[in-house]
This record gives sequence, structure tokens and C-alpha cells, in this order.
Amino acid sequence: MTKPFNPAIRDFLEGRIWLRMHTPFPREEIDALIKGGHIDTIKGIESKPSFLNQKQHFCNRCENDDQTRFTTFYCAKCEGSCTYCRQCLKMGRVSSCTELIVWKGEKPEYSTDHTIAWQGTLTPLQQKASEELTQSQEKKVSHLIYAVCGSGKTEIMFQPIHKLLMEGKRVCIAAPRVDVILELEPRLRAAFPETKIEALSGGAKPAMEASHLVLATTHQLYRFRHAFDAVFVDEADAFPYKADATLQRAVKKAVKPGSPVHYVTATPSDKLLLETKRTGFVSIINRRYHGHPLPVPTFSPLWNYEKQIRKGKLPKKLIDWTEQRLMRNEPFLIFFHHIGLMEEAEPLFQLIDPRIRSVHASHPDRKEHVQELRNKELPGLLTTTILERGITIPNVQVAVVGAEQKIFDKGALIQIGGRVGRSVDYPTGDFILFHNGITYAMDEAKAEILKLNKGGVRT
Ligand SMILES: [Zn+2]
Ligand SMILES: [Zn+2]
Repeated sequence: MTKPFNPAIRDFLEGRIWLRMHTPFPREEIDALIKGGHIDTIKGIESKPSFLNQKQHFCNRCENDDQTRFTTFYCAKCEGSCTYCRQCLKMGRVSSCTELIVWKGEKPEYSTDHTIAWQGTLTPLQQKASEELTQSQEKKVSHLIYAVCGSGKTEIMFQPIHKLLMEGKRVCIAAPRVDVILELEPRLRAAFPETKIEALSGGAKPAMEASHLVLATTHQLYRFRHAFDAVFVDEADAFPYKADATLQRAVKKAVKPGSPVHYVTATPSDKLLLETKRTGFVSIINRRYHGHPLPVPTFSPLWNYEKQIRKGKLPKKLIDWTEQRLMRNEPFLIFFHHIGLMEEAEPLFQLIDPRIRSVHASHPDRKEHVQELRNKELPGLLTTTILERGITIPNVQVAVVGAEQKIFDKGALIQIGGRVGRSVDYPTGDFILFHNGITYAMDEAKAEILKLNKGGVRT
């Protein structure tokens, strides 16, 4: 006969890998459950001897094995040399003398009663993709939804997710960017009003209950292990996920062994596309939900724009484009590759209209300014690539200054163009790439948009 325990501890720990000393429960209760065999302990950092007296470290939380991401120091607790992992440091330090805990007792019961309250209807293409996704889930193979910007990617996931929830399965939607999670949360809560949903990003506190559907930044998945029957990675091609092997490992670690990871994006990398084709299934949606084609970029040379702006002068073409938007009362976004250059340009744009503002990732008024643009209190924004995805503003017109810059790769340019013409009322708009020389990426982006538009006519 096992002693009764606080079920909140089980519900909290199930599927997580957590620092023993930092749970929200009394230490004695955790200790008792470890003693009673309900909780397993795992060493924070494994260190194996390697050549030349060096040690090879491995972090058991984030599975980092990049030796340059470990630091060894003199630790008062160990009274000697101790190593910690810098890769997952933000989530609390894991070091040689740290213990991690995982739940291994009886599983929580997940409800099988979930309402889906979403009232919309899927287009035939969306419906097909949704069914194909369900089939892949049943076969436990990875599925890629390759759907153009504005095709209603999230809604495609609703039915497959609902089916999983009704089977008592646990589901996660992960995205590299906080903005995407913030945008998804209210939509998922509205679609599944009775489901226990937990949204985890940056400072969010984990829930004290067994959440059924978890929305999380990919970083947060460092703290999960064998938790989910399916993980959907939204915007899988976004930074930092696409360039960070430990984040990709974290996602794979978060699913139960043998369970699939699915991907949803408008701009899959060649690697992801190939991989999924090989081991799973790809659904392609090359039509926006309102049926209109994607806006095709126009290329316009803006020779030596950087020099001119640094000298305090906006190129005439850029002034003309901006004035045209103001005259027609069209909201606009102007993308820059570099914060410094954008901030030098800001006062020059304010000579055209004093309400024009700029935003970047760590700008204190970033959210407010985007809201002001939505509310038409601002006519337009200068921005870095932070607004390249996840944002919908009716009738927005888009320009890129310096489209030849490396940061504007094919994927980024397609995402930026994807901001234009999203709403049924304004299905078209201007998408202009001001450049100092046409790049391969610009040509590729244009070619892919044209190709998608052509394919779209056939369906
Ligand atoms: Zn780590
Ligand atoms: Zn130590």
C-alpha cells in the first residue's frame, strides 16, 4: 500500500524534467516521494573523462553537448571543481552538484471530454491538409503543413488536435518566437474553451495542474521530457530554432518515444522539406483562404541608400513611396536590415510625417506601436525583421530597404511579402524591394511566389 501524496505534485511533474531544489512544493514532500519511488533523480551534468585529462560534459536537462557552452568553476557546495551548462542557464542553473527530478509514479488522468468551439469552415485545401495531418498522427510519422502566408495554418491543426484531446492525449504547440505564442493563445483558448491550456514563454509561471494542451516557446521545452503524444512546431524556419541544434533536440525530447513532431510553416527550409518527404508526409496549400494570389514583389534600385541616409538624406524614391501611402491613407511597414540605420532614418521619415515610428526586438514601446498602427493612430512603422511574421494588419503596404542584405534570405522575403493582402477586404497591396543590387535570394523569393500562384490556379 503506497502512502497518499499530493496529486498536484504528480500533475505538475508529469512530463517535466525539473530542478529538485526549485519545485513549487515543500522540500520534505518531494524528498518523501523520491524515497517512496514516485520520483526519479538524475544528475544535472554528466562528466566523462576524455583525452588529455579533459572532461566531456553533457547536460541532462537540455541535452547540450557543445563543450564551449559549459563553464567550470570553484563551487562552495561541492567544495571543488563544478561545471554548469550555459545553454539552459536562463531556466535556473544546472551544475554537476544539481539534481534533476522526473515523475515515474502513476500517470495523471487526462479528460477525454473536449468541446471545439471554432465556428469557421475550412476551405477544401485546408480540409484535405487537416485530414492528412490526422492520418500521419495515426501512423506516428512526422507531417509538414507547407501553407502560404494567409492560408489559415492554425485552423488546419484544430481538428487533429481535438481528436488527440478526445483520446486523452497530451499535445504541445511550440514556436520559436514569443510573439507567435502570444498570438496563438487567445485563439486556442477560444477554440477549446473546456481544455486545460497552459501558455509558457519567458516569465510565465508553470500551471499547478496537468495541462492538456501546452503552448510554449521552443526554449521552454528544455524543461519537458517524454511529455507529449504530438508536438506541432509553428514557424519551424524562424530564428533561433532553425539554427540551434539544442532547441531542435529539446523538441524531440519533449515528445514521448515514438511519437511524432509535426511542422507548420509558409517557408520550410529545403532540409525540412526533404526530411519530411523521406520519413513522413507533406501537405501543400498554395492558395490563401480568400483565394487571391500572393503579392509578387517589385524590385526597385536604391543606389547607395545607406550612404545617403547616413548623410541625413532620404532617397527620393523612398520619400515618394511613403508619401503615396500617406496620401492614400494606407498603413505601411518599411523593413530595415540594421537598427542603427533605421534609427538614423527615423527622424528623416518624421519630416514627411511626424507620427512615423520605428520598432525593434528590444524597443520598449514595440507592442504599443504595433497596436497604434492597427488602430490607425500611426500611419506606418519602420521595423527590423521582428515583424516579418505573425502580424496581420488590413491593407498594409510593405517596402524593404536594402533587400540585398544577407538577413533577407528567401524565407524572410516571402514572410515579409506575406503581410500584404491578407484580408478579404484588401486582398492585394504593394510589396516593393528597394535594393542596391539584386541578389539570388530576391530572385528565388520572387520565383517561388510566382510558382505558388501558378499552382494555386489549378486547384
Ligand atoms: Zn543545459
Ligand atoms: Zn557544485
